[in-house]
Amino acid sequence: MSTKKIIELPRETISSVSPLTGELLREFEQHSEDAVEQKIALAAATFRDYRKVSFAQRAAMMLRAAEILEKEKDSFGQMMTQEMGKTLKSAVQEAEKSALGCRYYAENAERFLADEEARTNATRSFVRYQPLGPVLAVMPWNFPFWQVFRFAAPALMAGNVGLLKHASNVPQCALAIEDIFRRAGFPEGAFQALLIGPDRVNKIIADRRIVAVTLTGSVGAGASVATAAGKEIKKCVLELGGSDPFIVMPSADFDKAVETAVQARVINNGQSCIAAKRFIVHQEIADQFEKKFVTRMASLKVGDPMDASTDVGPLATANLLKDLEVQVKKTVEMGARVLLGGKRLDRKGNFFAPTVLTDIPKGSPAHEDELFGPVASIYRAKDMSEAIEVANNSIFGLGACAWTNDAAERELFINEIESGLAFINGMVASDPRIPFGGVKHSGFGRELSHHGIREFVNVKSVSIQEADTGKSRTE
Ligand code: NAP
Repeated sequence: MSTKKIIELPRETISSVSPLTGELLREFEQHSEDAVEQKIALAAATFRDYRKVSFAQRAAMMLRAAEILEKEKDSFGQMMTQEMGKTLKSAVQEAEKSALGCRYYAENAERFLADEEARTNATRSFVRYQPLGPVLAVMPWNFPFWQVFRFAAPALMAGNVGLLKHASNVPQCALAIEDIFRRAGFPEGAFQALLIGPDRVNKIIADRRIVAVTLTGSVGAGASVATAAGKEIKKCVLELGGSDPFIVMPSADFDKAVETAVQARVINNGQSCIAAKRFIVHQEIADQFEKKFVTRMASLKVGDPMDASTDVGPLATANLLKDLEVQVKKTVEMGARVLLGGKRLDRKGNFFAPTVLTDIPKGSPAHEDELFGPVASIYRAKDMSEAIEVANNSIFGLGACAWTNDAAERELFINEIESGLAFINGMVASDPRIPFGGVKHSGFGRELSHHGIREFVNVKSVSIQEADTGKSRTE
């Protein structure tokens, strides 16, 4: 996943294809150059007025967006499941979480962006946070609603307007989200979806009316977008891939750790940036962990994501299945041992068997890259220091979790792990109340919390010297 193609050939159409059956669900014409020009012009014109709309008015619209999401969560859930294969129960939860994100920023944006007084030699100094303008958001298919809302809710509450270039396999979700904001009462140009391929992104970044760009996706796409933004001296935020470590020490609640390990690996059919991908287990408990983890992974029900009893559905596209198959095959050829699965399932749809690998050789895809599917890699370590060393031996640094009840081990983990998120005795998850983002090749910048809303604002320092006194406050 992480070293994917940079540019694809221009595609005339954008298609929804069922990951379950391979059948074409819907097909859309790409927006023409003229249509894109009109949308950028509308965004720029809308921003001129929208930036002056009060927080209270923006919040009222954002709360309506939350209500729409909550009321129609079942139909939005079905749309996500049909387009990209996540289980229906998780898709419905995703619509709910998107509503939560809208509510969180509706309720907190004004406070996060309130003037901040500072003490200097001037009579009065303060910081004012102001919106920047139209922001381009390039988004992935894996959380087709939540990824977009966690950009859009803070951006719109800050007074920016958004243009969404969603992943090409989820056009129905892109259009549905545009429609939610329209129905919530936001002006027509506040949030618009662009149905375009990745080859047309750089031209939009170069447009003078676009002030910033955010991308959530693979390292290759991030590098391309960052290069284009850098050339134009434009702010950019990157939320890229991850190969999160899941460390288990002898003092941990073993059963809970194993149970969570399984969930953390197969969440979203294994296609989450913060899914645990590398399980680093203390040697004293490694045999026991391997045995129980394999048994639990083997008991997962793989099947139709619409079925309430399904644990793991198909991968989102046929290409993802092919990529994963190659990565696993190469890792095994280089010497890894397959404890479970290891191949695609012999049935229609993009199904890969829940898989557990061990003895992972250095230089193999499982060691170096992100495996975006239900494939777990097990490593062994002699203590917490060695576990952290193994964990940090990766280009990625997104999430990480450690299972331990030892205070010294916890402290060591928190201080030494190279990641943007460090969880103890729990599964790494995004939460609007805490910042989300990575270090190293997992990207830069943060989403969520007050950090997220301050990414796309002008942090304006204001200094006022009163003419009559000329006296400084601090004198
Ligand atoms: P992807 O192929 O990089 O696509 C992401 C988005 O970027 C899509 O809209 C894609 O458009 C576009 N894109 C691809 N190449 C581009 C280029 N050269 N220039 C401009 N845009 C380009 O990634 P994905 O397969 O959809 O998503 C999975 C990846 O996202 C994984 O690596 C995952 O870890 C990462 N992710 C990270 C986070 C996070 O918060 N850190 C969250 C979720 C996912 P097309 O679809 O039209 O190609």
